Amino acid sequence: MTTEKACHECHTITTETLCPKCKKATLSDDFSGVVTIIDPEGSEIAKVMEITQKGRYALRVR
Ligand SMILES: [Zn+2]
Repeated sequence: MTTEKACHECHTITTETLCPKCKKATLSDDFSGVVTIIDPEGSEIAKVMEITQKGRYALRVR
């Protein structure tokens, strides 16, 4: 079973042990609110969260 984790730094959701974006192990399995960003340029959520790449992100990471 793979557990998804979210990065504290950039909120990226991953099943890896390191964040694919930050290359850090700042991951937590305690997160809530998953958003899928398809169009970072046109998405208000992406702007607020400072997301510049497509992907799945957690709204809140504890
Ligand atoms: Zn990250």
